[in-house]
Amino acid sequence: MKIETIAIHAGNMANELSGSVIQPITLSTTFKRGLDGGYPGGYIYSRAGNPNRTSLENVLAKLEGGVDAAAFSSGNAAGMAVFQSLPPGSHIIAPDDMYHGLRNQLKILFAGILEFDFVDVNNTDVLQSYIKANTRLIWLETPSNPLLKVTDIKQVVTIAKQHQLLVVCDNTFATPICQQPLSMGADLVMHSTTKYFGGHSDLMGGALITAEKNEWWQKIKQVQEMGGAIPSPQDCYMLVRSIKTLPYRMKGHVNNAKLLAQFLEKHPKVDSVMYPGLESHPQHQIAKQQMLSFGGMLSFCVKGGAEEALRVVNAVKVFTQATSLGGVESLIEHRASIEGQDTKTPQNLLRVSVGLENIDDLIEDISLAINNI
Ligand SMILES: *Cc1c(COP(=O)(O)O)cnc(C)c1O
Repeated sequence: MKIETIAIHAGNMANELSGSVIQPITLSTTFKRGLDGGYPGGYIYSRAGNPNRTSLENVLAKLEGGVDAAAFSSGNAAGMAVFQSLPPGSHIIAPDDMYHGLRNQLKILFAGILEFDFVDVNNTDVLQSYIKANTRLIWLETPSNPLLKVTDIKQVVTIAKQHQLLVVCDNTFATPICQQPLSMGADLVMHSTTKYFGGHSDLMGGALITAEKNEWWQKIKQVQEMGGAIPSPQDCYMLVRSIKTLPYRMKGHVNNAKLLAQFLEKHPKVDSVMYPGLESHPQHQIAKQQMLSFGGMLSFCVKGGAEEALRVVNAVKVFTQATSLGGVESLIEHRASIEGQDTKTPQNLLRVSVGLENIDDLIEDISLAINNI
């Protein structure tokens, strides 16, 4: 089946006696035992498993081309499950441009438990020079947040295989509609489903999808079940509902992002535009090879500094000045100020989550705001 069909049908276990076309929300926390003390319905207790979560995990696994998925209550909880699944003392290589929430999680929560280095994973010499005897995992995020750097997944996987390292790819920016890391040899895909999967800025969630049901995956499932950072049945239902339109929403996000990137690139008050679909993007050739389409996120630097950038975000009317991404509404954000003191993000950088409004309205709005500089 093709991806649009999977998105609509793979998350729907509507086998109720009522004949409902859509799977109901199962709120029950506990499930009836059989005469022999067993569980004839396959469910015991909702932390361990719930029909809505099963449906969500089914559709997530199929969309990414994986064999199983684990849904979490947030993207950070999904990332944390990966780190918790590693033996203490393991060394992780992570990108220098990485979602700051997960970078901080490593630096603050896993200090003294795991070892980590944040390096330019696009430079194979640098990457190889950081591999040590206790290195277990390479974390990737491509396109990255907020610089939209693109990493050659296949190239990193080749190096990882030579050293028996695991590769996890945060695929939040791309979604499986634009990029499928498991097909390029990654072991695991991570998502913040808060973003494009939810798509309407009204729920939090995270997910891991695996290429293989191995011992490591069993450990991750234990972290999910015993740690208990699971999504509620309502949130699972909402996600399954939103995922049905994900392929079509992504087409709109990608089209709008491309047109906005092209407009910004020609603007005299814009210094640079970071969008993998632009010829001027430093890794455009890699993006062309490994992405199915270029996503709905872009960043741009205005001429000037923080003051000029803030003038733009304070003048927009259709865009909302807010963090996060992946919703139908366009968001714009001065990224350095949310990342805190030690950020390397340029002060004149604005990150845009391009929504599904009419592109003419978006261009007019941002054009008026930039003229305000
Ligand atoms: C938002 C985000 C996360 C964290 O997800 P939450 O749902 O906010 O916990 C991780 N990675 C990327 C790329 C993100 O954008």
